[in-house]
Amino acid sequence: MNFEERERARREWQAKRNVPLDVDVQRDALLALFDAVRAEEEWTRQKLNQLITRYIHAGDRPVPKERIVDAYRQLVARGVIPFERALLERLQLKPIRTLSGVTPVAVMTGPYPCPGKCIFCPEAEGFPKSYLPLEPGAQRAEEHRFDPYAQTFARIRTLETMGHSTDKIELLILGGTWSVYPRAYQEWFVQRCLDAMNERDSSSLAEAQRLNETAAHRNVGMVMETRPDYVTLDEVRRLRALGATKVQMGAQSLDDEILAANKRGHTVADTRRAMRLLRLAGFKLHLHWMPNLLGATLESDRADFARLWGDPALRPDELKIYPCSLLEGTELYARWQNGEYQPYTEAELIELLIACKAMVPPYCRINRVVRDIPASYIVAGNTTSDLRLVVQREMRARGLACQCIRCREIRNEKITRAELRLDVLTYPTDVTTEHFLSFVTPRHRLAAFLRLSLPLPDAPCEDILDEVRDCAMIREVHVYGRALEIGAESTGEAQHAGLGAELIEHATQIARANGFKRLAVIAAIGTREYYRRLGFELGELYMAKGI
Ligand code: SF4
Ligand SMILES: [Zn+2]
Repeated sequence: MNFEERERARREWQAKRNVPLDVDVQRDALLALFDAVRAEEEWTRQKLNQLITRYIHAGDRPVPKERIVDAYRQLVARGVIPFERALLERLQLKPIRTLSGVTPVAVMTGPYPCPGKCIFCPEAEGFPKSYLPLEPGAQRAEEHRFDPYAQTFARIRTLETMGHSTDKIELLILGGTWSVYPRAYQEWFVQRCLDAMNERDSSSLAEAQRLNETAAHRNVGMVMETRPDYVTLDEVRRLRALGATKVQMGAQSLDDEILAANKRGHTVADTRRAMRLLRLAGFKLHLHWMPNLLGATLESDRADFARLWGDPALRPDELKIYPCSLLEGTELYARWQNGEYQPYTEAELIELLIACKAMVPPYCRINRVVRDIPASYIVAGNTTSDLRLVVQREMRARGLACQCIRCREIRNEKITRAELRLDVLTYPTDVTTEHFLSFVTPRHRLAAFLRLSLPLPDAPCEDILDEVRDCAMIREVHVYGRALEIGAESTGEAQHAGLGAELIEHATQIARANGFKRLAVIAAIGTREYYRRLGFELGELYMAKGI
């Protein structure tokens, strides 16, 4: 895609998003649509589309499909119609986005040089390394000139317009390698994201954090991306001081020769060490793994994927599988032109992904199986971005199942406490014993889970922050079900049935039975109030209580 084509695509995309919304022109049609939506007995997404076409798109200046919820909210705000939660839920076009209980908001740091020289990594002027101008997240960030406040504020507004609850926000900070950005920039960036959630300015990061404890949009998780060789105990401390709860790292391969051939600039030992430091500090561990790198084969990739689970020093909590994409302008592209590299065919990739998914243990969540790169950038190889669905269908047809967290989440099923049973999965790592506690339905669907790490007596003390030495550590508590607004009444959804508190009680008993006297939790800033109610006290970086 050349420059003009890219610009045209960008203009079309922006034009689509900026249609002015005039509810008065279609007011009667909108009211008729709402009546029809309310009157339907059985509700499906297809019905919504059909009704929108019938009532709205028959008119002269149709309200865009994406803005129906916005139009509904405007009419409610003006007192034309009363607010009805059930109606709003039916009007939501993409309910899936908040089904895992929290609403993700992704923002991107500004362009900054990355120390990496990875041969597959694209570079686009004006964007952080590895991001491409037409990727939706990158476009949104550029539209706001990578300003953290503007990005966070606009994203919250958009999600509200689409009808999502925005009181629990997981902030994902994307862009190159977080750890190489200047410290002052990091602090300013996080402070301004929090200011947008707090809907007011602050004079320091500490103040923004304090305000967020009781803000309307609470930060219930914060994620940064970095490289394994940049994780040191000092870096771990800094990440925690900013409020981070999860770290995404590119492991890419667990074979030093492949890492070297692709000029990753780090070794598998670096990945292991980074995992150890972050695990002992209670972080949620999210790895990226990349099949089809230069030098890899289908067989070597299969063996490599097995190492993620076989090696106790790895065993990540979450994983993104990003099959290497062949992009113009990269060194890999030149190697492909020379005949040194060949991308897998789509059929080969599907077979590999099936084999990988069948290996995933129940404590891990596979967040993605391909990176959503617009197909126009990809020179050769897979361009199907919904490969996950293809893989799922094929696995079902063969009687195989992926037991990862994502595939077992209850989504918006109605459940009652009585049908849930507690399941405890224990597995060792190089420095801890992990306890994965979950509430599951009779069909093994997951309603809630908790990750408890018990450090081994011989875990190296120089790798543990003083504040949490000798503590059992809760690394994650997650309750599924539609993200209800804080304090909203539960109608059978899991979030407000107190499942989180029950899991914490079970974790406390396990920690006590294993001889621990203190229990710490890596509490996100916006969950501090919740943990205070459960008797935890805020220390310097963690919340903890005697048990
Ligand atoms: S470390 Fe990440 S951003 Fe940097 S060159 Fe490698 S893949 Fe690209
Ligand atoms: Zn899965």
